[in-house]
Amino acid sequence: MDDRICAGFAGAVGRTPLIRLAGFSEESGCDILGKAEFMNPGGSVKDRAALYMVLDAERRGLLGPGGTVVEGTAGNTGIGLAHICNARGYRCVIVIPETQTREKIDLLRTLGAEVHTVPAKPYRDPDNYQKIAGRMAADMDNTIWANQFDNTANRQAHYETTGPELWEQTGGRIDAFVAATGTGGTLAGVSRYLKEQRRDVRCILADPSGSGLYRYVTTGHPEVVGGNSITEGIGSTRVTANLEGSPLDDALMIPDQEAVTTVYRLLHAEGLFLGSSSGINVAAAMHVARQLGPGHTIVTVLCDGGGRYYSRLFNAEWLAGKGLHA
Ligand code: PMP
Repeated sequence: MDDRICAGFAGAVGRTPLIRLAGFSEESGCDILGKAEFMNPGGSVKDRAALYMVLDAERRGLLGPGGTVVEGTAGNTGIGLAHICNARGYRCVIVIPETQTREKIDLLRTLGAEVHTVPAKPYRDPDNYQKIAGRMAADMDNTIWANQFDNTANRQAHYETTGPELWEQTGGRIDAFVAATGTGGTLAGVSRYLKEQRRDVRCILADPSGSGLYRYVTTGHPEVVGGNSITEGIGSTRVTANLEGSPLDDALMIPDQEAVTTVYRLLHAEGLFLGSSSGINVAAAMHVARQLGPGHTIVTVLCDGGGRYYSRLFNAEWLAGKGLHA
């Protein structure tokens, strides 16, 4: 087949553009580059992990024709899995905390996933959404629990695809890579790959308030700092198998208002309609640019599109209720 034509949904995952953010670059004197993961066919960075986890299970004989994929997800992994399940003939069962946006939950149902919304509970609680998903899968035949947090096929997706794409797209001219993390897959996989190419590429975590990972990177122990964040899909109170052992140099904590201001600037001044984790990432890239000084290349991730957050991030009243503003 002509290599300009991709084979189905799976073939269209990855090889996303790397966008130079003009205003942010001009202001900082650095090249601020965003990997356009919202352009994946399922609309987020999680398409890569979802695809790798399904292919890995197929390869290992754990998932056969007519099988079922079960996952606990804040939304984007579930959306990626639901697309892949449709394309490959699997049933998709999703357990999602009821605190996630209506848009993501509605989209999952539209895609045909069987969606179970559950009360948001911390990881230590046996009724945490990830643990419920694990128990559901254990009771079903020809079924896998994708287990994105501790299944390192997730990190492998970024080690084998996102990292090499960034290296190739920049011609190896990367001074720093900075990204927020949920499962750790993106940050761990990309950081490992980049450090293997050049050990002095700085790899930095961007963390929202209420997460424990900033302290994990800076002190070695996960410990929650700050209150609740409005960001979705990022921040964690535990070190997942995917994040464990990542070659990280530093961490930054980004307040919600800075993330929101950055999201609106991306929308109005760069023409990019993105979600809150992209705001955290670009805000963090600007901090790194100020630390390194002009003339450096800083790469980050534009994780998903703003359409998943109309009712919150792009709703002035909702923002005001959280003490935030556009
Ligand atoms: N941004 C968004 C919007 C996400 O949904 C996620 C994944 N939950 C991430 C960032 C973080 O990606 P990862 O799981 O690879 O750390």
